[in-house]
Parts: sequence; structure tokens; C-alpha cells
Amino acid sequence: MRKFLSITAGLLFLWIALRTFQILLLPIETETVRHIVILYTNDVHGHLEPTSTSGGLAGMTHRWRKEGLGEGDRFLLLDGGDMWTGPVLSTYFQGESTVDVMNAIGYRAVALGNHDLDFGLETLRQRARQAHFPLLAANVRDKNGNPLDFLSPFTIIQVNHVRVGILGLTTNELLSDTQAEAAENLRLISYEEALREAAAQARSAGADLLVLISHLCQAEAYRLAPLAAEQGIAVLGGGHCHEIVNDTVNGTLLVQSGAFADGYIRVDVYFDLAAKRVVEMNATYRRNLPGKSDESIRSRIARWRAALPAELDQPIGYLRQPVGRESKEMARLLTLAWQSACPTAEIILATSRYIAQPVPAGPLTPATWLDILPTNNALLETFLTGKQIIQLIESQRPLYGGLLEKDGRYWLEDGTPLKLEARYRVVFPESVYIRYGLRELADLTITKCAQDWRQAIVDWLKSHPTSPEQPLDALLQEP
Ligand SMILES: [Zn+2]
Repeated sequence: MRKFLSITAGLLFLWIALRTFQILLLPIETETVRHIVILYTNDVHGHLEPTSTSGGLAGMTHRWRKEGLGEGDRFLLLDGGDMWTGPVLSTYFQGESTVDVMNAIGYRAVALGNHDLDFGLETLRQRARQAHFPLLAANVRDKNGNPLDFLSPFTIIQVNHVRVGILGLTTNELLSDTQAEAAENLRLISYEEALREAAAQARSAGADLLVLISHLCQAEAYRLAPLAAEQGIAVLGGGHCHEIVNDTVNGTLLVQSGAFADGYIRVDVYFDLAAKRVVEMNATYRRNLPGKSDESIRSRIARWRAALPAELDQPIGYLRQPVGRESKEMARLLTLAWQSACPTAEIILATSRYIAQPVPAGPLTPATWLDILPTNNALLETFLTGKQIIQLIESQRPLYGGLLEKDGRYWLEDGTPLKLEARYRVVFPESVYIRYGLRELADLTITKCAQDWRQAIVDWLKSHPTSPEQPLDALLQEP
């Protein structure tokens, strides 16, 4: 027993000694060595309010204040994009509520995400005007190759005497993973060209330290890291793929903080102003579990909640069992609702990629559908041949309706086999049109048959009343 105690005491002593030594090893701030703290989020997707996994933005702010945000001048709040497409509280206001809250928290710069275009270019311009922080994307041009008035390639922010040059890149998926209008009006240049150009501009504008914030997935960030290191970029923040990343490549720190305000990355940088170099840098990922929240941000979010129109919470149907994003019941629900809005449609195509969450059991309201389908989409109609439809189903694995499949063969719901050469009326949301490359198919005449894919569902639910006694579930069985 005595031997055990002495080993325990020895280990404890060793641990204390190591911790003390470690603290002594941290650089001390001097006249020239300055300490900066970067707090980094990405893909918040309008998760203002707490969920089972997140304290929301009021919870996040509470944590940051405990770390010292608001005291002194060493904090830099940055975000990697996809700010506002998400729950009804953000989507209903087309991101205005999210930007208002981000302004109040004190974000300093945000990289453009593909979903920041979900409400159209004009709305994005309005959000950029509303934001107290710049939207950064050095790789985006208009269709004539000119820069856009509401995007910047970089910005310079002085933090604790260090002039930090913050560069921004958006994802190459910007034009294939959002609305048709964006794809038609915007062009991209390569990450490499944009990065070289923006880094040179920021340096000549006087930046001491370079940081890149981006909407790039981990795999792309790793590919770009050697060039970022060569350009002297200390930190490369990513986004888009909702990954947690904390790694170093050739001296450049790669970070990403997951999604939905579930957590954040804290980067401590010690920068020597005289030698113009980073002396020490380290990053940690920290969870934002539900708990305490910052009172002023919490009440700001509550004011937006109170501003939602009451009719959004009016029951319009009842579901006994939840309906999964990729389930047959989801395909059936979308098919019935969209065929009702576009009555000539024979076949419906959809993708679960733009279905944000399952349909929850219980009363259904219009707000439910803003939560589930947060992007704006019209319903489009065109003719496709049986062969094109089968190719799409087999290559893209969409949700579909109006067709039955058995052993790789397809029938229409009236029992007639799908003919390869025959043409069928097919209805799909705009996002499918872009995502599945339909606009590359020549001789395709597209007509818009409904303005709003959500309203089509709300209207259909209202015209087919369901209740706890007669729930929607029965209508969602296969024909
Ligand atoms: Zn994204």
C-alpha cells in the first residue's frame, strides 16, 4: 500500500512539474510578441437556438465571454460560411436574423458559402449590406469576369497591434450546389490563382500575418495547404463538409469546426512584430454543448422568435411516425404534394441532399416545412425519355415517385411498363435541375409549374386534412 502511495505521489509530482514547465514554455507577450486569439466557426446554418447537441449562438457567446471576448483587443471572430440556411428562425427571415445576431456577437469576417446564395443574389447583396463584417471570396467573379460589389478578396483587421490579412475562398461547388440564378450569373477562378492574387494584395496593403478563411472541405484544404504555406498563410480555416479538423501541414494550421454551432476552434497565435513571424501557435476544438447562455444574445434571438408570424405554427396535419429523409414515405409525400401543384406531372424526382431533417411525428405546421426544406426552390417541369429517367435514377439515386421498380424494371403507377424511347412529363425542384446536370441536356424545354416547393406541400396538407385519429401515415403507403 505504501509503495502504491509513493508511486502515485511521484506521478502527481511529475505531472505538476511537466505542467509548470509547459506553462513556462508558452511565449510571454512583450512589446513585439503579441498574442491573438482566433475563434472560428463554419456551417452554423442558422442554428441560433439551442438543440440537443448545441448551445446555439447565445451559448457560444457565453463560452467566448468566459474566455475573455470583449475584454481587450486580442480576439478575432471568423466564420467559414453557410451562415443562414437552416431552421425556420433563420430561413423565414432569409438570414436577416442570423446576420443580426452575428453582428451583435462581433464577427469580423466570413467566407462565402454555397448556401449563402440560397435566397438569391439580391438577398445576398442585402445581407452583405446588413453585415458589420465583410463577405470574402477571392475566387468569385460575375459572368463577365469582373469582381462583385458585395464580395471582397481579403480584408485587413488590426488585432492587438498586428495587422491581420484575412483572405477568403468559397467552394468550387458554389455553382452546382445552390440556385440556378447563381450558376447563371457567377463564374469561378481556380483556388490557386485566387489565393496567390489575394495574398499578394493583402501583403502590399500592409498585412503582417495572413489567415485564410474558406468554405473548403478537408480534402481540398489538404491539397491547397502546400501553396498556402508557401504564401506564408498561418491558418487555413475550412467548411462545407461539416468536418472537425485540427492539423498542421508545412507549418500552416488547418482547422474546421463541424457544423450547426455544435463547437468552435480556438487558435492562439503569438506573433513577433519585429521579426514578422509566428513564434508559437496552437489550436483546440471545443464543444458548445447546451448550457448557460449570454443574456443579451439570448434575448435578441428571442425577439426574432417573437417576430415569426403566428400562422407558421398553425397545425395543418398530423403524422404518427416520423418520416426519414431518404425513405419511401418521404418520396410518396413529395410526389403527392407536387403532383397536386403540377397536375400534368407523371414522374417526380427529388434529392434528399436538400431535405435538412426528417419529418417529425406529431402536428405538422408550415414552420415544419421551413425547417425541413430550408432552401428556396420552384418546381420545374420538362419531358425526359424513359431511358434518361432510368439513367438518372441509377446514377444519382434520387427520391422518385410516379414509378414503381422491381428487379431493375420500371412501371408507371397505372401498370404500363416505362418505355425507353417514350417521353414523360417529369417535375423536380430547381436544385435537382442544377445538381443532376439536367441543364447540360440539350433540347430540354423547362417550364415552371409552381413557385414554391414548400407551399405546394402546405397546400396539399390543407386539402387532405389529417388528425391523431386519421394520421397522414396511411396516405404515404405505396400505391
Ligand atoms: Zn456548404
